Amino acid sequence: MPIDATKPYDDQNIFAKILRGEIPNSTVYEDDHVLAFEDINPQAPYHVLVIPKGAYVSWDDFSANGSDAEIAAFIRAVGHIAREAGLTEPGYRLLANIGMDAHQEVPHLHVHIFAGRPLGPMLVR
Ligand code: AMP
Repeated sequence: MPIDATKPYDDQNIFAKILRGEIPNSTVYEDDHVLAFEDINPQAPYHVLVIPKGAYVSWDDFSANGSDAEIAAFIRAVGHIAREAGLTEPGYRLLANIGMDAHQEVPHLHVHIFAGRPLGPMLVR
């Protein structure tokens, strides 16, 4: 079910539990501000989720309320992860769903990194 990204942060969401170590994840990258882990239901051969460690519901929340340090760390981490995985030359796709129309399901900001095959048109028509 898509979530309403205008609601306050819910600290019982699944990514908050991952950040607290309450449920396991397959970590691919971590620093002071960022965690990245494999998506549990991959939609491409490479499908990693990158999340800020701070409590932000969505890109909207993060871009409005994140600190400069958090935002810089997050943007740099996404690029670093993709480069380290060798994705720059074949290419990759970033996706962030925000709210109902985008079908955001987890109310903690995450950017999907998809790669590993030709990814086709941008959106399903
Ligand atoms: P979105 O629709 O953009 O909110 O995407 C949420 C993503 O979180 C989906 O691709 C799910 O497969 C993924 N997901 C949900 N639970 C977990 C989990 N425990 N570990 C890793 N990925 C998860």
